[in-house]
Amino acid sequence: MSKQRAKLVIGNWKMHGRLAENAALLQAVAQGAAGLPAEVGVGVCVPSPYLAQTQSLLEGGRVLWGVQDVSAFTHGAYTGEVAAPMVVDFGASLSIVGHSERRAYHRESAELVAVKTQRALEAGLTPVVCVGETLEEREAGSTEQVVGDQLDAVLVKLSEAEAARIVVAYEPVWAIGTGQSATSDQAQAVHAFLRSRLTAKGAAVADVPLLYGGSVKPDNAEELFRQPDIDGGLIGGASLKAQDFLAICKAAAATSVVS
Ligand code: PEP
Repeated sequence: MSKQRAKLVIGNWKMHGRLAENAALLQAVAQGAAGLPAEVGVGVCVPSPYLAQTQSLLEGGRVLWGVQDVSAFTHGAYTGEVAAPMVVDFGASLSIVGHSERRAYHRESAELVAVKTQRALEAGLTPVVCVGETLEEREAGSTEQVVGDQLDAVLVKLSEAEAARIVVAYEPVWAIGTGQSATSDQAQAVHAFLRSRLTAKGAAVADVPLLYGGSVKPDNAEELFRQPDIDGGLIGGASLKAQDFLAICKAAAATSVVS
């Protein structure tokens, strides 16, 4: 008998998009996603100014939406910040936190990422917590140390019930936007390690979705998603092209049934 495995594919648009091209992309994604099996969850994380547009085009459909970061504060004199409850006002249900670009370019510490995760959870968002090592760290043999520390910094601040509501994305920094994805074996090995860390937090946390991100494309998605601890993908560049993003969602569908 075949077994169903839930999969999740989330697009990270980064700082891309304008009103006209967003409309075409969102409509195409909504239309394409409508035909996917129920086991496949689909979401897009858009730049905050386009939340209202995204809500108006996706509401009532099956594609979730959200943002790429939230403030560590709920409100106040924090110029330029966007608070999690503001995002929820626009029907959003997702927020990426701790993306490597924020850790690197905005000097976000593991502790700050943990606080942002808490703020997202309090507001009712699903935080997509990103972890990943640089090439130097991988070559030094410290991948598990790095991603373990990044994940633990978040888990230590959460109850078991809260931790069960997060999504974790393993995104090796050297694979992001480079066209050089981790191999399915490399990704699976890190996912298995992260799974053991999640399981150690409590039985309810063991099944938290573990996404792989880093140069996922239509031609490598299926092989990656077939791995036992890879529950889907966080997709950067390929999420900006409806055809590619939907092809990746179809790869998730193909791997959501295990015979
Ligand atoms: C990302 O930045 O989250 C990402 C996975 O990017 P890309 O797919 O372009 O490597």
